[in-house]
Amino acid sequence: NLQSTTALSSGYSMPWLGLGVYKVQEGQEVIDSVKAAISHGYRSIDTAALYGNEEGVGQAVRESGVPREDLFITTKVWNSDQGYDSTLAAFEKSINKLGMDYVDLYLVHWPVMGKYKDTWKALEKLQKDGKVRSIGVSNFQVHHLEDLMKDAQVKPAVNQVELHPLLSQIELREYCKSQGIQVEAWAPLAQGHLLDNEVLADIGAKYGKSIAQIILRWDIQSGIVTIPKSVKEHRIIENADIFDFELMPADMEQINGLNQNHRFGGDPDNVN
Ligand code: NAD
Repeated sequence: NLQSTTALSSGYSMPWLGLGVYKVQEGQEVIDSVKAAISHGYRSIDTAALYGNEEGVGQAVRESGVPREDLFITTKVWNSDQGYDSTLAAFEKSINKLGMDYVDLYLVHWPVMGKYKDTWKALEKLQKDGKVRSIGVSNFQVHHLEDLMKDAQVKPAVNQVELHPLLSQIELREYCKSQGIQVEAWAPLAQGHLLDNEVLADIGAKYGKSIAQIILRWDIQSGIVTIPKSVKEHRIIENADIFDFELMPADMEQINGLNQNHRFGGDPDNVN
């Protein structure tokens, strides 16, 4: 169900499904969507300093009536704050905006060349100090992970990357699996670009599920944490209604076959 989790290398566990809040407006919009999600059983929220809505996320969490320790809150250090001291300072800003004593997962948002190793040292310090339970990265390719782990004391618990049926990231997933790094999908719904896909629609018809639900179920059956974004309550409910059916192997294979290595978002090898 919505509260089922995956065990991270940090020793903590993370829900398979969460709510993404990229481009959700600070203030009432983010407060309403986070509260709606929590009231419908979501326990994981994915924000970032970049999104500019950490205050609203924190307020929604406090008003949700669900104890803080039952929730899993992720935020991220933005590119312009990378480096050791600047990351520690950015974290203080984020935690103050969230109004929390700790975050569950702190991520390096993008692999900024020449900086991400110092950024990582700051994350290791924050974890050691108990301010962050698990530390991870986002948008790291295999070569970034290999380079980071040459010097790291702690392995990333999570790598959050663009991942959907048009960009299934097979090699990266296999590498992460071999390293005990949990893969998490951003833009799982390809930011809306797959919602008229005929293969997915046909599979959906067989199970009485929407295209969004088929994709999110494919994520979870593939061992991928997923964080679809919606501000509409009926879609927030729909996106979580994926725990009462199972895709058959042939359907999983058909979805795997949709891969085109197509990115809608930025290129991790060309981060400004
Ligand atoms: P997404 O793939 O989750 O698509 C979201 C869009 O799909 C919504 O705006 C809505 O228009 C549509 N949608 C959602 N549910 C639907 C449904 N049931 N039926 C029809 N349409 C539906 O895209 P996203 O928001 O970019 O990604 C999800 C989350 O991943 C973000 O909110 C953010 O938290 C995270 N993210 C991280 C990074 C990163 O660099 N780490 C980058 C982008 C996004």
